[in-house]
Amino acid sequence: MKAVVDLEKCIGCGLCAQVAPEVYEMQEDKAVAKIDEIAEDKIEDAKNGADQCPVIAITIS
Ligand code: SF4
Repeated sequence: MKAVVDLEKCIGCGLCAQVAPEVYEMQEDKAVAKIDEIAEDKIEDAKNGADQCPVIAITIS
């Protein structure tokens, strides 16, 4: 699975990187997915981070 942050939507609040620092990180004022393919044991973290996003900028598929 992959997590993709829509940079047009991201408002740079940093929540996803706080909730799931092993999956998301802030670069300048936007979040990016740190890893290309999310390992099985990080999928829950990735989803939690996406759920916290106030502007629904993260897609996991
Ligand atoms: S939670 Fe959403 S808006 Fe906030 S930094 Fe992450 S992707 Fe951007």
